[in-house]
Amino acid sequence: MQATRRRDTAAEQLLKAELGRLNLEYDEHVSLLPGSRRKVDFVFRQRRLAVFVDGCFWHGCPVHATAPKANGAWWRDKLDANQRRDRDTDERLRDEGWTVLRFWEHEDASSSAETIRSVLSTRETAMLAGGRG
Ligand SMILES: [Zn+2]
Repeated sequence: MQATRRRDTAAEQLLKAELGRLNLEYDEHVSLLPGSRRKVDFVFRQRRLAVFVDGCFWHGCPVHATAPKANGAWWRDKLDANQRRDRDTDERLRDEGWTVLRFWEHEDASSSAETIRSVLSTRETAMLAGGRG
């Protein structure tokens, strides 16, 4: 598996179908941070919501994370570095005023889409209440 993927994962495809069902519009695979290689999987620009769908193995899902036995220390370092980079990405996005949501690839796509919709509507209300938008 390549570190930089160009094709949607199965989990992303499922979530796309659910977002389409809810008529939610988004951009895909967008770099929001200068100097950061990782693209945001789903971007809702108007509400400044950034959504990631994290692979269980590469991002250390608490349910499915496994450390390969061979070269164990090397893998542990690599996977730890991935998680540190995720946290760093989140912080930088939040500094820029983005709300960040992360879902695991094992999560149910329709409930993820509902969470996204509910966060979007919260953001909408907040922006209207604040008189900005
Ligand atoms: Zn998982």
